[in-house]
Amino acid sequence: MRIAKYAAVLAAAGALTLTACASGSPNDAGNEQTTTAPVEEVTFDEGTTMAKLQNAGKITIGTKYDQPLFGLMNPGTNQPEGFDVEIGKLIASKLGLSDKQIQWKEAVSANREPFIQNGEVDIVVATYTINDERKQVIDFAGPYYIAGQDLLVLQGNPEGIKGIEDVKGKQVCSVTGSTSEQNLQAAGVEVLATDTYSNCLEPLRSGQVVAVSTDNVILAGLADQNQGEFEVLDNPFTEEPYGIGLKKGDQEFRNFINDVLEQSYEDGSWAAAWESTAGKVLSTPEPPAVDRY
Ligand code: GLU
Repeated sequence: MRIAKYAAVLAAAGALTLTACASGSPNDAGNEQTTTAPVEEVTFDEGTTMAKLQNAGKITIGTKYDQPLFGLMNPGTNQPEGFDVEIGKLIASKLGLSDKQIQWKEAVSANREPFIQNGEVDIVVATYTINDERKQVIDFAGPYYIAGQDLLVLQGNPEGIKGIEDVKGKQVCSVTGSTSEQNLQAAGVEVLATDTYSNCLEPLRSGQVVAVSTDNVILAGLADQNQGEFEVLDNPFTEEPYGIGLKKGDQEFRNFINDVLEQSYEDGSWAAAWESTAGKVLSTPEPPAVDRY
């Protein structure tokens, strides 16, 4: 495990960040990108997804492009950045693929299952809650983080909202196809649904909604990006275990990704990924136990 330790030390020190010129379309980030993890020399049994990806020399990963701290497109490099992006890079490196061999694809909440089912992406790492409904059509490795749904309000909290109980019967903005939207509806909240959380900020500014609701870490990223405008209540009312979405039934690939996660917990690369991204705003949590269902 000499190589993996080396990766963790480098990532922690931020020593190996090579930015390169922009390439590709806005939604398909191409080959030139930051490099954080050295490639592992590995071989896999023929016929496995791992061998196929390694032979193809490429992995396509769906992630968010508008969620600071977890998945945010950097227009300067034309590459996404964040904790989810780092988790994707860790998985790629254990397949023997460099960061340059990752094809990023923008995912929004509603297209994650279809992207996986149609083979448009190999995996999704995108603040993606593991739940039974989704497990009917795809599988999840992980969890690799546990978030909780919360509320974002205007700075100073002019409506005096303390928690979910206070927004029942009021308009709250969230995103189609998310657990956040479902949880609000189940709680009797009126939902203004859009396609991305960043599109909820204008309705909050204008007073069309009294709050934006989704996972606390997404809201913390939006508050940090728009300093002085918004605040997170810090009163989470759900548990959102984040998983890595993959094709249903690919047990070998799921086991492989779970092994990668467990290894990253042990060798420090998970913590280094957190600290270089979400950790700039949020304290470092304990990694959750992966679920070998
Ligand atoms: N984690 C929740 C979900 O997977 C909300 C965040 C999101 O939409 O990405 O639906």
